[in-house]
Amino acid sequence: METKTHIALVTVPVYSHLRSILEFTKTLVNLNQNIHVTCINPTFGSSICNNVKTLFETLPSNINYMFLPPINLQDLPQDIHPALKVQATIYRSIPSIDDALNTLDSSSKLVAVVSDGLITQVLQLAKKLNILAYSYFPSTTMLLSLCLHSSNLDKTISSEYKDLLEPLEIPGCIPIHSTDLPDPMQDRSGEAYKVFLEGNDRFYLADGILVNSFLALEEMTIKALQQKECEGIPSIYPIGPFVQNVSCDKGSNFEYLKFLDKQEKKSILYVSFGSGGTLSNEQIIELAFGLELSGQIFFWVLRPPNKFGVIDDLDISEYEDDILFQYLPNGFLERTKGKGLVVPYWAPQVEILGHSSIGGFLCHCGWNSTLESIIHGIPLIAWPLFAEQKMNAALLSDGLKVAIRPKVNEKGIVEREEIVKVVKNLMVGEEGKGIRERMEKLKGDAIDALKENGSSTRTLTQLAFKWESLGSHLGTYNDS
Ligand code: UDP
Repeated sequence: METKTHIALVTVPVYSHLRSILEFTKTLVNLNQNIHVTCINPTFGSSICNNVKTLFETLPSNINYMFLPPINLQDLPQDIHPALKVQATIYRSIPSIDDALNTLDSSSKLVAVVSDGLITQVLQLAKKLNILAYSYFPSTTMLLSLCLHSSNLDKTISSEYKDLLEPLEIPGCIPIHSTDLPDPMQDRSGEAYKVFLEGNDRFYLADGILVNSFLALEEMTIKALQQKECEGIPSIYPIGPFVQNVSCDKGSNFEYLKFLDKQEKKSILYVSFGSGGTLSNEQIIELAFGLELSGQIFFWVLRPPNKFGVIDDLDISEYEDDILFQYLPNGFLERTKGKGLVVPYWAPQVEILGHSSIGGFLCHCGWNSTLESIIHGIPLIAWPLFAEQKMNAALLSDGLKVAIRPKVNEKGIVEREEIVKVVKNLMVGEEGKGIRERMEKLKGDAIDALKENGSSTRTLTQLAFKWESLGSHLGTYNDS
């Protein structure tokens, strides 16, 4: 029987968040074999979708996991925004998370709890149990910095942020235009803003915040926060990028690979909007014409329009491809045959980005997708949709200069002419060359951060060692 240091992990039921935090956990237990993790997962709905199941099925044996009983959301209106379902699930799960933590702690003493940045209530639960409390932040340090400064901004700025004429200045960050602020900050009278502020205040309870970023990517922002640690900002640990490796992704589809294999190196534009992002039908049509008229080869993961702009729990088996293709312009598939591939709903993205024929990624700037692009050195067209994606797009285009950002018209649509322009610029233009070079450099920095002596590995190793040392005094998880 071997005794290990026991850490609890608390997740949220959002595919991209799960993917990121589980990747972190796998790295942690791989770096330090004396750590055992138990992963507590709140759920809602009648079943866990296949994409999520796959993530858990590939976990190593030193990570246990439990799904809490699904939260009943039947009292909520049937047709509410997916984000509200997640929020309600988080609120209603707190008592059962509390129970689970208490049970784990009494059976095999816990040293620390690490919880997703969306569920900061867990930091309070950990404090109650007298356990170290950490938050895992699966987005940029720039967003984290905005979150940590949000209470101050709320006190010092009285108008709606969207009416500000000057960009917001946060120490160590690029100036943030009001239109690029995250969704909850677009309406200060909304419930989402209140929840955002409350959650951000709880970050201050953390013994540390682990960020899926790395020093070379956001050095100024990271250092600006670390300098403020003496003023009450929690310790910041940049430990990424955590990107799932290919073998864990959903099985490769032979037809896709045949298409990719046939094309020249760096010739294909990959087009995808994350795990659930959707476009309006008008925007699908503009994008289709834009891709066709650009003359560039493309690989497009297509979803049907949806009134929220996002589908939760994407279950591919529920949909039919023929219905989906009706949203495309007449004759589009025939005219682009051989020059483009339209894939319904889902594709093995990491595998695709790692293929030598991919030369650009038209991306919604979700943070996982962005890091996957960086680790493969793929330059971006930044096409943000929701959440904090506009801020990520600004960081990528204005700050790091590894992306081109298309202009949207007054109706919020990117028109076909603009699409042709940005696609050509990225794939064959002069602007694209500079972007590609900078992305190659960033790829090298990302790989370096993850090397044995790289900045992220060293940071995580030290933290894991601290946990292990505490655990060795407590004599915790019995691995029998
Ligand atoms: N993803 C995928 N295939 C798809 C769409 C998405 O494998 O067809 C994966 C993608 O590789 C990434 C995650 O889903 O890891 C999406 O996360 P991201 O943070 O980019 O966006 P979100 O889903 O939060 O909008």
